[in-house]
Amino acid sequence: MSQTEPTSAADPARVESGDVLHFIDGAFTASANDQSMENIEPATGQVYGSIAAGGPAEVDRAVEAAHRAFPIWSKMAPSDRAARLLRLADLVDANLEALARAESVDTGKPIGLARAVDIPRAASNLRYFANAVLHHHSEAYEHQQGTSRALSYTLRQPRGVAGTISPWNLPLYLFTWKIAPALATGNTVVAKPSEVTPVTAHHLAALSREADIPPGVFNIVHGRGAEAGAAIVAHRQIPTITFTGGTATGRQIAGTAAPMFKRLALELGGKNPTIVFADSDFEAAVSGAARAAFANQGQICLCGSRILIERSIFEKFTGAFVERVRSLRQGDPQEESTQQGAVVSRDHQQKVLGAIDVARREGGTILCGGEAAPAPNDRCRDGYFIKPTVISGLDENCRTNREEIFGPVVTLMPFDSADHAIHLANATDYGLAASIWTSNLNRAHHLADRVQAGIIWINCWLVRDLRVPFGGMKQSGVGREGGAEALHFFTEPKSVCLLLD
Ligand code: NAD
Repeated sequence: MSQTEPTSAADPARVESGDVLHFIDGAFTASANDQSMENIEPATGQVYGSIAAGGPAEVDRAVEAAHRAFPIWSKMAPSDRAARLLRLADLVDANLEALARAESVDTGKPIGLARAVDIPRAASNLRYFANAVLHHHSEAYEHQQGTSRALSYTLRQPRGVAGTISPWNLPLYLFTWKIAPALATGNTVVAKPSEVTPVTAHHLAALSREADIPPGVFNIVHGRGAEAGAAIVAHRQIPTITFTGGTATGRQIAGTAAPMFKRLALELGGKNPTIVFADSDFEAAVSGAARAAFANQGQICLCGSRILIERSIFEKFTGAFVERVRSLRQGDPQEESTQQGAVVSRDHQQKVLGAIDVARREGGTILCGGEAAPAPNDRCRDGYFIKPTVISGLDENCRTNREEIFGPVVTLMPFDSADHAIHLANATDYGLAASIWTSNLNRAHHLADRVQAGIIWINCWLVRDLRVPFGGMKQSGVGREGGAEALHFFTEPKSVCLLLD
């Protein structure tokens, strides 16, 4: 692969070509050994570009550049850093259409979803942390010890080079959720997007030059997790690692990072309950549960993949829910009317279909779906489509109800009381999110208190304020992102005590 320089994310030829290079020290570059991987469009199953495949050599170069840039970037006035990140957010907005199309092609998600959610949220992440860092304050305490009076205050200093590793399901959305607070607080970054969906991060790199982010401040090394990702995690000069991805990968990363005493944030998998009481607004609960189950083909860590329904409305809810799911429009992700696109890869399609087979063997009843979907048009004849699938008749202890499937598959289970609902909700090793549908506020508060999850929604799903802590408990993760949590994660607190008199 030759060294080429894309001009802008808005350049339609680049978006179509899908070729992806590392971004190191402000320049696009191929791998030292010229290794690359194929980039496949999930909706068609066809190769549409190549991705530079990096490893330790590229990570070393990126870390050197990030180290060189750190003194200037970390000492730059926060308002100057913020101005650059705000400019980058404006450029993302200005390139909304091209970025949304690139995201849809790369992931198989409906273009409407990428346009309404993924890309606007990427701009919001950049804008939020650019502003937040200007308004963040540090504590100061005046105190007395014996006859002496003193003032203690906290300095929060950037930690150096941050390594950020992100997944394929919400590519630019989660990529920016990590780099924005890292950069806003004065760290420099070596980022690795998923090798399955690297294209929009590549375009963001081009935009970062237009936003005057200096060379070396923001670097991207593309490649496989076991090569580029593992090299970032193991690098001695990267003291801070933030990772979003699967729980098994998180365990591996912690195994490397913990003995090196790195600061580590892990945002991992989920098996989230949607809990529907008989007194809920029935229509709102049916459509809320369907959206929570199947948004982005069920490939959001926050998706509600287990729907718990109060027994008195179980049959009525099941009928209405299955009808709603059958009406979801599956189609070519590039078509405006499509509500369900392709899943991200052939491997993932096989994994999800395998999980449906497990559900069958466990005695589950497939109420709808349960198989690959026919191609919506000729262009998509080799694409990776799965019919939205609803399964009932399984208890809380089976694999189907305990293991993350991360696809368009949901189970239905009845419950008899609030305590029973809490028991079912908590019967997994995960604890990321839950949504509760009821008109009884006291009960909603009671469940919010008892359900083991880092995020609880009451009569809604995926309504997010970027200031609140984001993350999970149990095997869904360690640490929190968002708001002040992220600003603290990327800075080192230093307590200073000054004797006053
Ligand atoms: P994954 O764990 O396979 O990969 C995530 C990232 O880690 C990719 O960039 C990958 O290349 C990299 N990676 C893989 N092995 C690595 C290693 N040994 N060392 C360093 N990096 C490595 O996950 P995925 O399949 O891309 O994403 C799906 C998973 O992500 C699901 O489990 C989902 O629940 C989870 N997820 C969690 C959240 C959250 O906020 N909790 C958000 C989105 C996705």
